[in-house]
Amino acid sequence: MKQFDLRSYTEQEMICLAEQSGEKPFRGKQLFEWIHGRQVSDFARISNLPRKFLENLAQEHEISGVQIRKKQVSRDHDTAKYLFSLSDGNLVESVWMKYHHGNSVCISSQVGCRMGCSFCASTLTGLTRNLTAGEMLSQIYEIQNETGERVSNVIVMGMGEPLDNYDNLLRFIRLVSAERGLHLSQRSITVSTCGLVDQIRRLMEEKLQITLAVSLHAPNDEIRRQTMPVANKYPIEEIFSVCREYIENTGRRITFEYSMIDGINDRREHALELARRCRGMNCHINLIPLNEVKERKTRRSREENIRDFKIILEKNRINVTIRREMGSDIDAACGQLRNNFMEQTNSD
Ligand code: SAH
Repeated sequence: MKQFDLRSYTEQEMICLAEQSGEKPFRGKQLFEWIHGRQVSDFARISNLPRKFLENLAQEHEISGVQIRKKQVSRDHDTAKYLFSLSDGNLVESVWMKYHHGNSVCISSQVGCRMGCSFCASTLTGLTRNLTAGEMLSQIYEIQNETGERVSNVIVMGMGEPLDNYDNLLRFIRLVSAERGLHLSQRSITVSTCGLVDQIRRLMEEKLQITLAVSLHAPNDEIRRQTMPVANKYPIEEIFSVCREYIENTGRRITFEYSMIDGINDRREHALELARRCRGMNCHINLIPLNEVKERKTRRSREENIRDFKIILEKNRINVTIRREMGSDIDAACGQLRNNFMEQTNSD
């Protein structure tokens, strides 16, 4: 891997690069158009820029890209999961979901993860490295290219903890909404966090219009600590307090994700406790039937328990939905495809 990723630069930064190379500023704009408009990943395919400028750039920069290693399509063809390799051979996953109102892509923000949630497959081998903003974008570009369809929503909810890769995430958000890039509105970008309170506060100060999703998975610290080590660092009280501030400061509703795990967090009293905490808050709860991961002991809640949980929340006037299950026949739990692939190649 080269030192810098050209795909992670803003248009303004590319203009500066051109000027530093003794070129006219419009050369920077042209470069941006090649990398984000036409989405090339190879210097050799850039045809209308001075050779000397490109040679200079190529000394220290690469243009990040991803390559499809495996693709699994769900039986109903509405979901596809991609396993991508990065230029250093690391693997990440993305999911493409087709809805009536447009296409969503769920992307990874890190290779692996260091948060250690006990039900999650992404964290089994720890964190390898952060993705660059360009590598996050490349997942979307490659999927658009492969499906021939435009992506209208982006969800940063694949492998990794996006707020643990804060600077690159912010860069990614700016690039994906850039006028001469995909030009997505910030409202069509969702970022999911396990609840890093300090970074949520920082994000709030950026005054972005993105949707923030917070993985709660429990109504109190005692239960939360059973599955999420991060709960030892940030008590649930602090999470709720920063979320309230976030809503007030940005005017945006927050989503709480709640993966339903049999016998752990799915009792009626848990629903009541959760409802008490969320009362009067501009939030939405997304109940996720746990995707069982073979290396993990946690099991999915029974269907009737999920239904009862939802009814209790509704009776307490809390906004709640059960996540439509997409792609559970294609290893769609974060990190599963990568783990299974690595196991196979290790035993080959
Ligand atoms: N690190 C971020 C985003 C990663 S995963 C976060 O924690 O939010 C996106 C969501 O899927 C999170 O809510 C995560 O807790 C949840 N998740 C992970 N593994 C899961 C599984 N096996 N079944 C159901 N939900 C899972």
